[in-house]
Amino acid sequence: MTQDLISTVFRKEVLQLSAYKVAEAKNLIKLDAMENPYTWPENIKHQWLETIKDCAINRYPDPEAKQLAKTIKKTNKIPVESDILLGNGSDEIIQLLLMALPPSAHVLAPSPGFVMYRQVALSLGLNYQAIPLLKDTFELDITAILAAIKQTQPLIIFLAYPNNPTGNLFNEQHIKSIIDAADGLVIVDEAYAPFANASFIKKLADNPNLLVMRTVSKLGLAGLRLGFIAGNKDIIEQLNKIRLPYNINCLTQLTAEFALNNQALFEQQTQQICKDRSLVLTQLNKLPGIIAYPSSANFILFKTRPKQATCIFEALKQQGVLIKNLSPQGGLLTDCLRVTIGKPNENQVFLQSLSKIVHM
Ligand code: PMP
Repeated sequence: MTQDLISTVFRKEVLQLSAYKVAEAKNLIKLDAMENPYTWPENIKHQWLETIKDCAINRYPDPEAKQLAKTIKKTNKIPVESDILLGNGSDEIIQLLLMALPPSAHVLAPSPGFVMYRQVALSLGLNYQAIPLLKDTFELDITAILAAIKQTQPLIIFLAYPNNPTGNLFNEQHIKSIIDAADGLVIVDEAYAPFANASFIKKLADNPNLLVMRTVSKLGLAGLRLGFIAGNKDIIEQLNKIRLPYNINCLTQLTAEFALNNQALFEQQTQQICKDRSLVLTQLNKLPGIIAYPSSANFILFKTRPKQATCIFEALKQQGVLIKNLSPQGGLLTDCLRVTIGKPNENQVFLQSLSKIVHM
């Protein structure tokens, strides 16, 4: 009876999906989700609590989050010609972009890439096209992408820059040629911008079909759920029509505003993370059977000996360290694991545990 009800009510695309699973991390060193491991010093926390003390939680928030939008534009150097739209995490913006497309639209992204592009596109019944990255370099297969653009005219192309889960920045010229060739929108997803010395924000003014998406999650504010997308004003205006009012709550508005006015703190933390990233990369590559790939993000992808990834992942968990097992996704990720850069002592525990496991 319930099964009948379910299959009558829900679209087949929804029935076929599996929910996005988040691993339980209780009592584990959490190096699985690309979070910033650092919290704030007591004096900053105190100032923050003062800021939110009188927050009017009995009232709806500013539906346009005007003050915060202004601060985001300034701190991210968004060109004056462009506008921005804020989302409850950039996940919400991905959903919003895809919801705006015609029902049979094609959506294209390289693979492996951020799983939410595919998950949302499929849930909406869109035609999702994954173009494999080149083996070993994880570069864009530009010939295949340009051919796919010609053949299916995708209305949205997602390019994470740096890419999750490979950590590399794609060739800039390739991205430019995709923006030139695309009939639809190109979303350059700069979620990991705080750790990479590269951005397409300056190119917004000259490319009306380019949109740049960012989040404060990786910077150190994952709990707030705040992302934004910047681009052509007329395009942002259309997207704004399907954004739910009040999608950015008042505590997030005040806290993000406060945090962005304390940029120095985050710069210090991201610099430390980048420094530790190179230490972890060097150490990983010294371990037998491990190949770690250079990264411009706050995580490192590494490959194990064939069929070892899941055992290593489980053994690390046994020793109290949670990373991400990507091997089940297959393709270029077969035998691959991903570790987020944590605090120096957390990285050491991870490296020591891994060293013990691979020497067993
Ligand atoms: N884009 C990329 C490439 C990501 O890796 C992630 C999170 N893992 C997101 C977007 C989503 O970030 P948010 O927390 O803003 O929803």
